[in-house]
Amino acid sequence: MAMGAADVIIFITDAIQGLTATDQAVAQRLRRTDKPVILAVNKVDNDRRELAATEFYELGINETSFISAYHNYGVYDLLERVVELLPRQELAEQWDDKEMRLSIVGRTNVGKSMLTNAIIGQERSIVSPVAGTTRDALDTQISYRDHTITLVDTAGIRRPGQVQRGIEKYSVLRAVNAVHRSDITLLITDATELATAQDAHIAGLAWDTNRGLIVVVNKWDLVNPNRFRMERGLHRVRERLHFMPYVPVCFTSALTGEGIDELLDSALSLWQERQRRVPFRDLQYLLADAVSTHSPPSMRGNIRNRLRIRRVRQVGVNPPTFVFSVNDPKLLHFSYRRYLENRIRDKFGFNRTHLRLVFRHER
Ligand code: GDP
Repeated sequence: MAMGAADVIIFITDAIQGLTATDQAVAQRLRRTDKPVILAVNKVDNDRRELAATEFYELGINETSFISAYHNYGVYDLLERVVELLPRQELAEQWDDKEMRLSIVGRTNVGKSMLTNAIIGQERSIVSPVAGTTRDALDTQISYRDHTITLVDTAGIRRPGQVQRGIEKYSVLRAVNAVHRSDITLLITDATELATAQDAHIAGLAWDTNRGLIVVVNKWDLVNPNRFRMERGLHRVRERLHFMPYVPVCFTSALTGEGIDELLDSALSLWQERQRRVPFRDLQYLLADAVSTHSPPSMRGNIRNRLRIRRVRQVGVNPPTFVFSVNDPKLLHFSYRRYLENRIRDKFGFNRTHLRLVFRHER
């Protein structure tokens, strides 16, 4: 599965241990892939080892590099080569509003299968009280309020300590994959065991990839639902996920079906927000106003070390991506970046999505 998900494969072997039968077996598997493979012989800490390491040429992998992760030898070159081999990605010139892809992730037993079924509206995946029974790779398309929504493959992400048996390891990979293949991730949490560290970890994963994220507090039927509980629950979630202040939170019961429509509506409106395009002129007005109300601070009191912003334009959606042309990106202070981001949020109503701000030297 890792091979399937990868763009480039680094096959690491151990120069101290030398060539093993396992290496041979892995090499044989790798010969069947059409992905670029680099063999990295690690622990090549000195010349003697380098000489010994030549035995790895026997594996017949075209690209071989000798590295020492410990001494940081050869690692940079390896990385350079990986970057060369990666498929070219232009900076988010993505304007196509294809259908929304949703992934559903969360700890075991929070109700992912049941919720998936509730969304689909019919039995398609196995719901069982036994932990970790969601296994089938499955993309399902549903139609909801004139939109097509694709639910991408779901599987439980386990607490790292519990990842032991093969099948569970695959589940982690699969969930990571699902996040990568989706536009919006629903992070399911359990109302009776709110926002654990593991939840925060998974949330961070989706967040770091710039995907849209919604936190779902499921099993809401199990707590006595009143306004007070809801606010306390919200507070708890917000506290735990303080690094994502604007993430939407929804309350559901997969058992009774309560909150499912609201959840899908919330996902759709987050999706639409992430697709929003801002007119070029409005952006320039906003920039002019932002800079005149609060001009960029000069570094170390030197007026010549002041950030100048010439222009801003939106270059992509999902997430909305803005490029600022500046004299020198190094002069940007993080607080000024946040100020500009907040101005864009306020003005254009980006309340729940990531925004990507890129600062580039441009004439
Ligand atoms: P998964 O491991 O995250 O896929 O969780 P499952 O969907 O298999 O659900 C785990 C257990 O929680 C099952 O016994 C479900 O019946 C139960 N469950 C799931 N959602 C709800 C809910 O909203 N309310 C209640 N009371 N139980 C639920």
